[in-house]
Amino acid sequence: MSNLELYLGVDLGRSTRTAIVDGEGRVHALGREPSHLESGRNLVDGLVEFVNRTIVESSGIGTIRSIGFGLPGLVEHPSNRVVMLPNLSDVTGIDVADELSSATALPVVLDNDANAAAYGEWRCGAAKGRTDFIYITLGTGIGAGIVQGERLQRGARGFAGEFGHLKITAEGLECGCGSSGCLETIASGPNIVRRTRERLFSDPSYVYSPLAEKMRGKLTCEDVVESAVAGDRLARAILNETGLYLGMTIANVVNLLNIELVVLGGPVMRDNDVLLEAVIHEARRRAFGPSFESCEIVQSALGDDAGVIGAAIMARDAIHGALDVAGHA
Ligand SMILES: [Zn+2]
Repeated sequence: MSNLELYLGVDLGRSTRTAIVDGEGRVHALGREPSHLESGRNLVDGLVEFVNRTIVESSGIGTIRSIGFGLPGLVEHPSNRVVMLPNLSDVTGIDVADELSSATALPVVLDNDANAAAYGEWRCGAAKGRTDFIYITLGTGIGAGIVQGERLQRGARGFAGEFGHLKITAEGLECGCGSSGCLETIASGPNIVRRTRERLFSDPSYVYSPLAEKMRGKLTCEDVVESAVAGDRLARAILNETGLYLGMTIANVVNLLNIELVVLGGPVMRDNDVLLEAVIHEARRRAFGPSFESCEIVQSALGDDAGVIGAAIMARDAIHGALDVAGHA
């Protein structure tokens, strides 16, 4: 067995992803398999089994010292309990971190997945060296991690950063969080697809869009992004409108927090310069001039791997007593 010290990142979603990272932040292996969504119990059992298998398989590379674990829900600090996991099976009655730690005999750091992704971008991605920024992930849901004064801001109980559930209208669609009018009901991947379908049905002038062809099968958010980049009028209209709501909400955050950087990541942002440009345009138009002058809006550097790599880096920094410590690189 090699003496190389390793850290395991785990990112739980509809699939479970793993990353094995060394002390320098170099990624040695990435893994992925479907999550067991039948029940909360199955989800945790499947996760523990996958993690144990990954640990055994990594023994040729080095020794795993700790585990960082991100999931798309509300994680209470400092109790480390999951109190809400809206888009997956209910695990609120299960002490996930404790079970994973007992099953592997390793320390486990649990956090919200967007916080983990923000941490990854901060330590080795687009936000390296920054002191005040927000990382926003757009996928099935929309989440964010906020760093201010060189600290990840978790809020009073650990629930800060729910950017996708900022309200953008009083009369909106119902949201998975139980409220309505949330940004997520417009700008998440599934809602971009829903709006594209509705526009195709309601406006006959779009009948010649290549996306109309896809309506018979499965239309995906990637289809919309690809068509927009290729110049399709419908896809560009949908993404420009998405950028309007997203840019407007980002302008609120820029005005509220005076951040120096907005990092946009997650599957919806992949190769999506059309949306990036629309967001920048709208945020510039809506934010205070002096606040926006000192703020950049950029694509994520780690892409879809930000969450799982960030979780591994959190695990590394936690056992060295350096998690969230200002200036640690
Ligand atoms: Zn919501």
